[in-house]
Amino acid sequence: MRMKEYQFWFVVGSQFLYGPEVLETVASRAAEMAQWMNASGQLPCEIVYKVTAKTHKEIVDVVREANYDPACAGVITWCHTFSPSKMWINGLAGLQKPYCHFATQYNREIPNEEIDMDFMNLNQAAHGDREHGFIGARLRIPRKVIAGYWQDEDVLKRLGDWMRAAVGVAFSKSLKVMRFGDNMREVAVTEGDKVEVQAKLGWQVNTWPVGQLVQVMNQVTEDEIDQLMAQYKAEYDFATDDLETVRYQAREEIAMKKMLDQEGCMAFSNTFQDLYGMKQLPGLASQHLMAQGYGYGGEGDWKVAAMTAILKAMSEGQTGGTAFMEDYTYHLAPGQEYSLGAHMLEVCPSVAAQRPRIEVHPLGIGDREAPARLVFEGHAGPAIVVSLIDMGGRLRLICQDIQCVKPIMDMPNLPVARVMWRAMPDLTTGLTCWITAGGAHHTVLSYDVTASQMRDWARMMDIEFVHIHKGTTVDSLEQDLFLSDLAWKLK
Ligand code: MN
Repeated sequence: MRMKEYQFWFVVGSQFLYGPEVLETVASRAAEMAQWMNASGQLPCEIVYKVTAKTHKEIVDVVREANYDPACAGVITWCHTFSPSKMWINGLAGLQKPYCHFATQYNREIPNEEIDMDFMNLNQAAHGDREHGFIGARLRIPRKVIAGYWQDEDVLKRLGDWMRAAVGVAFSKSLKVMRFGDNMREVAVTEGDKVEVQAKLGWQVNTWPVGQLVQVMNQVTEDEIDQLMAQYKAEYDFATDDLETVRYQAREEIAMKKMLDQEGCMAFSNTFQDLYGMKQLPGLASQHLMAQGYGYGGEGDWKVAAMTAILKAMSEGQTGGTAFMEDYTYHLAPGQEYSLGAHMLEVCPSVAAQRPRIEVHPLGIGDREAPARLVFEGHAGPAIVVSLIDMGGRLRLICQDIQCVKPIMDMPNLPVARVMWRAMPDLTTGLTCWITAGGAHHTVLSYDVTASQMRDWARMMDIEFVHIHKGTTVDSLEQDLFLSDLAWKLK
């Protein structure tokens, strides 16, 4: 499902105490607010006003319907009036969709002349939202609280960001990952418990033999390759005359896409250690698949493949870019401390600062022919890097804020796509924190998704979240890890 196909259900709490006239006003205002917020064009998905709930049964019914409807990506509640919360317990306890408590108010200002006790009875969100907030806290259910006036841009931004994280939850729960071969031998961080991941995050992670991919590659026609080559020409510059090598990447891309689409997979991994029957490691092929929204992970890293797909789904329609990334090497000149990220081949061109070039160069590892790949620089701007690791018994999501810069040198002999950034709070502190937390060398780098959205996503998924930001110190991070270790042992 695409971003626009998801809905968020607006459920407004009230009670019979105020009489039918007040309830009609609440219902018509809630519908008006949903309509206005949809028309603002600032939300990625539609808000659908569902019900002004006055009874236990109405709440249980709407929750049951929300759980059942695949188009419903979350429930947004608000109390225009006072809604006694014991009638919410059974409904909220059974809610299986992301939940946001929107603490807002229909009127922006207190009307000096008009305000009397009738006005107070109708407009008492400050009262009702506190009762509603208590039951969320008491039931200890994961929730997002968004407070502020519903017409304000920053409020709509926070609501929209949360919606995107909730769509990431829906996407995650139906995500299938195709592994071509196993993980790279002996590597630890790319391993993980696939049963635990499926139970927790919903991912179906399975393996297909490389030999089957080669069979599908052999069935790809010259016509199909011609069509994809025309697309490459429209999107990229050719900095090579070796068209046969590029055509071989097209063959690989078409075959991988056929297998992915046939199985409904939105992410895949492969490894240079298992290219049995293939002439080239897929480079351009993987890069162009990522540009279409598929997640990818190198060296069999199916966790980063899945996370790449999820962040791409969360940021659908945004233009900053999201890519599979690997921390490669540092520039440690005082005052100019930067990380250089790249991969053997496979960085997504969605993060490119300029039109990518197709180049062909030999590859030192993998014992195959020189592969075609896209070469470009990543653009400047704030971004995050994200790593999901399996701690044994629980999953930990580590997110670091970074500031990408135009690479400070052109590196003319580096034949791969590259991104340069300054890690927060600074390279050495950030690095100490990253290593202390156990973050992988593979990450998802995104200019679109924020740390706050990843925190929301982790909360909805009930996994540990670690954030390294401009205010982080090694001491504060160690304290966080120590406390969270205790907390997760108790859970
Ligand atoms: Mn790698």
